[in-house]
Amino acid sequence: MLVDTGGLLSVPKSGNVGVDGIAITRGGGQDALSAAVKEAHMAGLPAMIERQAAVAIEDAKTVIFVVDGQAGVTSADKDIANWLRKNHSNKKIILAVNKCESPTKGFQQAIEFWSLGFEPMGVSAISGTGTGDLLDAVCLGLESSKVEDVSSEDDTRVPSIAIIGKPNVGKSSILNALVGEERSIVSPVSGTTRDAIDSEVTGPDGQVYRLIDTAGIRRRTAVAAGGSKTEELSVNRAFRAIRRADVVALVIDAMACITEQDWKLSERIVKEGKGCVIVVNKWDTVPDKDHKSTVHYEQDVREKLRGLEWAPIVYTSAIDGKRVTKILDAAIEVEKERSRRLTTAILNQVVHEAMALNPPPRTRGGKKGRLYYCTQAAVRPPTFVFFVNEAQLFPDVYRRYMEKQLRSNVGYRGTPIRLLWRSKKKSDKDSKESSSKEALAETSV
Ligand code: GDP
Repeated sequence: MLVDTGGLLSVPKSGNVGVDGIAITRGGGQDALSAAVKEAHMAGLPAMIERQAAVAIEDAKTVIFVVDGQAGVTSADKDIANWLRKNHSNKKIILAVNKCESPTKGFQQAIEFWSLGFEPMGVSAISGTGTGDLLDAVCLGLESSKVEDVSSEDDTRVPSIAIIGKPNVGKSSILNALVGEERSIVSPVSGTTRDAIDSEVTGPDGQVYRLIDTAGIRRRTAVAAGGSKTEELSVNRAFRAIRRADVVALVIDAMACITEQDWKLSERIVKEGKGCVIVVNKWDTVPDKDHKSTVHYEQDVREKLRGLEWAPIVYTSAIDGKRVTKILDAAIEVEKERSRRLTTAILNQVVHEAMALNPPPRTRGGKKGRLYYCTQAAVRPPTFVFFVNEAQLFPDVYRRYMEKQLRSNVGYRGTPIRLLWRSKKKSDKDSKESSSKEALAETSV
């Protein structure tokens, strides 16, 4: 995973205040600059390192420290190099001296940076010079990340619950209410709680759960339109939190609209095969509530977050701690469902009954889809393989029907389930192995 950081402080173009000759890109004005300098100072960072860059470095295995070869070594470069050496000696630091495209001067420009104490690599982003070697250097020694063997049951694993949502919906307040102590700063200023923080709680079932508190997410368009890189990093962090999680608590403010941003997050949850609990927070702020309020609200949520129709909804008021533990209860249930295995016998009974009730459509040529058998191939998320005569004889609408039947008969509330449709030739329909050429079609729902 490659994280691109803002890295350096920024001021508006008009202000054009350089920090020791560093290229200035974008930002929120002089006030933002002084606030950022103060924040960096308080965090014990050199003034020119943004806190988010520091967080990104914290998480990284390898750091590409990019300097400007044409500008030469600046005192800011030296500060950063010293800071990296002092605080991150355990990481691989690659010094990329950019803008060294000149065949005559490039080499000289790069070797000047030996003074920083790292081996300089002359590169040019604009011409591509040296970028292949840079990539080799980055990859060297990095292990490929291991894909979790979802079928292995491991009693020692700690299920993770990520709390995500837009800024100010109450994520940190929820976390504080759950862990029972002030673990992250809560402030009415949007975006004041930016870093993901992991905490552990023991659920009512005695199992330990990890809570991942994430930064809020700004609309990507705002980011694209010149918002700070910090926000871009927050989006990455939320997506990364989803990836790390087993169950995602998607928090929505009861009085704010569900936006495209929420929908994008929901889409990502489904794509990653994660469990989900929809948390409608600030329920205390909804005026004139009656017994129908939740019904109306649910209709709206279901309408706008269609991909998550299977996710339970919890209504909370984090400010006074009301019903917040219901999030944990729901997440625990979801995690159980996500890890549940069905016996092949029950599965086949359900699937064959569904087929009998509503057979797949015949093609014009009179061909008909036939199911040989179905098996659950994996958990987290539950994944079912349907061995059929020809996968293409089972159209999307039929696959959705089958998923609905599975859900209504055997549950799986709160988790996506995956249905894979695999064609088997007549000759090998009894064999569990199939040739690699067979069509593999997937519906992810
Ligand atoms: P985050 O940015 O999503 O982490 O949101 P915070 O937890 O920092 O909360 C943002 C603001 O909303 C703070 O002023 C909280 O006190 C307030 N807040 C959080 N939860 C609730 C709630 O349930 N009801 C009300 N009325 N305010 C809340």
